[in-house]
Amino acid sequence: MRRTILVTGGAGFIGSAVIRHLINDTNHTVINLDKLTYAGNLESLASVSSNERYTFEKVDICDAEEVKRVLSTHQPDLIMHLAAESHVDRSIDGPGEFIQTNVVGTYTLLEQARAYYAQLDDTKRQAFKFHHISTDEVYGDLPHPDDFEDDTNLPLFTEETPYAPSSPYSASKASSDQLVRSWHRTYKLPVVITNCSNNYGPYHFPEKLIPLVVLNALAGKPLPIYGKGNQIRDWLYVEDHARALVLVALKGKVGETFNIGGHNEKQNLEVVNTICCILDELMPGKSSYADQITYVEDRPGHDMRYAIDASKIEKELGWKPKESFESGIRKTVQWYIDNKAWWQSVQDGSYQGERLGTGK
Ligand code: NAD
Repeated sequence: MRRTILVTGGAGFIGSAVIRHLINDTNHTVINLDKLTYAGNLESLASVSSNERYTFEKVDICDAEEVKRVLSTHQPDLIMHLAAESHVDRSIDGPGEFIQTNVVGTYTLLEQARAYYAQLDDTKRQAFKFHHISTDEVYGDLPHPDDFEDDTNLPLFTEETPYAPSSPYSASKASSDQLVRSWHRTYKLPVVITNCSNNYGPYHFPEKLIPLVVLNALAGKPLPIYGKGNQIRDWLYVEDHARALVLVALKGKVGETFNIGGHNEKQNLEVVNTICCILDELMPGKSSYADQITYVEDRPGHDMRYAIDASKIEKELGWKPKESFESGIRKTVQWYIDNKAWWQSVQDGSYQGERLGTGK
């Protein structure tokens, strides 16, 4: 069945991957609602923005009247909510924006979705879902394998793991998850929630670890490693996440939570060394890029290990990641080499000229 899907935060890293997937691989119609903060870049949607099934609305999720207008104008069958402030370091320097967008913004969207849902006819009500996209960081962190004598059976985050967020970012996401759950329990809003591990891939804003390392390496700049670099993250290729999200939005059982992860646990230092090895091969310089690695003071409250048990989504919805870390990281490095215009416009700020664009 052809659906109209409202995607919030569709100009961001994961939202743009979801929209490219929806336009290229399905026949659904997409409304992209995005405020275009520093993290929103319409250039990431250049390949699909002229498609007649795509519309852009420059709107802040905290603006109740504008959200209401978008819902009544486009009459979506599904809402996929990705809009958020997403960078942990920025949340430590200035938590206010994270509370505003991630908590107040999600509350505003939930209230408008509730009012919209209440006036739908029976057929549309049965199909409607509010899909809240979140992170595994809400669970806090897991003990590091170095703390175990036998590291064969290490614990993983499951959908039942209690919340224990460490940073203002993860605390704001945990709050928004709980708001979404309570709107389901109290107001019967049909919701699904997903919690995913670290994503990587094309169109990732250069402040995040993987693009930062690729671009600093190419520019001959230091490759900063927090602490000892032994923090473990579970990496998932962004296009695998986008497929999982659309599957959950369409087929996930109302009221359920699904963890999404790639079974790719890597220490940060290992990720940086892998990128350096790929660059040594693809763009050989006078010495190895690994010589640019520089250790810097650890992030306060830095989580040691994240690792996801994704067996529920695999069993119930038949999702599996297609990309191994080895092939995904190689594709990602190659993408940054081939797409200089995209990241240069981010680095020199000219991508912000797109902010006035309204699509169609
Ligand atoms: P991003 O920072 O790349 O993009 C966020 C998007 O939201 C941007 O386009 C921005 O303009 C928009 N936005 C921000 N504030 C807004 C507001 N008030 N109103 C409307 N739009 C607004 O983030 P991302 O990495 O694509 O993450 C998307 C979602 O997925 C977030 O909710 C994040 O918590 C979650 N998530 C991210 C990861 C990851 O590894 N990046 C992993 C798991 C979950």
